[in-house]
Amino acid sequence: MVEQAKIDEENLIRESIRNFVQKEVTPIAKKIDREDYFPLEVFRKMGKMGFLGVTVPEQYGGTGLGYRAQAIIQEEIGYSSASLALSYGAHSNLCLDSVYRNGSEEIREKYVPKLCSGEWIGSLCLTEPESGSDALAMKTRAVKGEGGWSITGSKTLITNAPYADLLLVYARTGETLSAFVALASDKGLSRGKKFEKMGMRGSPTGELFFDSMFIPDNRMLGSEGSGKDIIMSGLNLERVILSFIFLGLSRRGIEQSIQYASQRKQGGKPIGEMELIQEKLAYMYARYESSKMLCHSALEKVEKDHMDVLNAASCILYTAEAAEFIARETIQIWGGMGYVSDSEVERLLRDAILGQIGAGTTEIRKKLVGHELIKQYRKSGRLPE
Ligand SMILES: Cc1cc2nc3c(=O)[nH]c(=O)nc-3n(C[C@H](O)[C@H](O)[C@H](O)COP(=O)(O)OP(=O)(O)OC[C@H]3O[C@@H](n4cnc5c(N)ncnc54)[C@H](O)[C@@H]3O)c2cc1C
Repeated sequence: MVEQAKIDEENLIRESIRNFVQKEVTPIAKKIDREDYFPLEVFRKMGKMGFLGVTVPEQYGGTGLGYRAQAIIQEEIGYSSASLALSYGAHSNLCLDSVYRNGSEEIREKYVPKLCSGEWIGSLCLTEPESGSDALAMKTRAVKGEGGWSITGSKTLITNAPYADLLLVYARTGETLSAFVALASDKGLSRGKKFEKMGMRGSPTGELFFDSMFIPDNRMLGSEGSGKDIIMSGLNLERVILSFIFLGLSRRGIEQSIQYASQRKQGGKPIGEMELIQEKLAYMYARYESSKMLCHSALEKVEKDHMDVLNAASCILYTAEAAEFIARETIQIWGGMGYVSDSEVERLLRDAILGQIGAGTTEIRKKLVGHELIKQYRKSGRLPE
């Protein structure tokens, strides 16, 4: 009964977001990519539909549907526009969900509803010019003064930064790290350039500078020194939720491949009847299905609140690599037309490449999985369940 209710709810969410994407996102997906266009109006509509605050209870402006709903939304937007899905993930998961989970009652009441409604856009600011993979080595510093903190430093490659109204900023507080809620209107905060990118175009990525930016005490997220824990718990969650973007992108690649292989004829027959093309489809499908299983198994752990780094890192490690493989093979199946921008299949590959960079690179994921496997095996003498 409980299982059936869960499936019904999942189907309802999927249908609702799919309809929304078909109506609001698919018609402008090409424009988003070609013109590097951030569709702010779609974001506001997603807020009105309740898609932004899915992991937040109703009392703070959310819909309280949970992480499964968030993952499905990621997947369905990712199917049509991976870049919009990336901006959605940065706003709804990396920023909003973390601000809600770690925020004081005052922060929840004051700021969370604005992020849920889409009135405000959110960003998470961790990466700095000199610290990417080694994020904990950040240099941005917060110094305690009367009634608050003075933050000096900079962040780079931040999704949504060119538009963000609220920014979750990490800074060094003495020997520890702490998290702060900064607002675009805060004195001392300025935006740098918006980057031109090869893929994920339309998802704005930018720089931020903090010059003695004053943040009052009541805008510290969590307690002083809790920044590292907030980063780590958020990163595991982010790895699982963002994997769903690449699951959606993979599904689109396979569907476009089957469609093309069915109608494109060479040597008097559809190329889909040729064994080498069928072999490609078989490997694409097997990798897609494997990604799907990994994503859903990691999501179940997220829902039971016992997700670990092994699950989260292996989920995104595999799903991102599979998406890149599928996108590459889609172009190959489309032949010369796949290389032409108008076909729109080349966008899949440009977008898929980000999957191996954001939320910790492929190399860092491998390092985490390898390290964790050895640690857990040493402890129990067998593979983790
Ligand atoms: C489109 C986009 C959106 C992004 N959005 C955000 C955001 O919203 N918020 C945010 O905070 N950041 C964001 N980032 C930044 C992203 O998280 C970093 O780019 C990523 O963590 C890698 O850091 P880096 O670019 O400094 O690369 P580096 O850390 O300098 O790595 C360079 C290379 O060295 C490898 N490497 C580094 N350390 C090791 C190691 N110990 N072992 C083996 N190999 C290693 C890496 O895997 C990589 O191949 C975004 C980036 C992009 C491109």
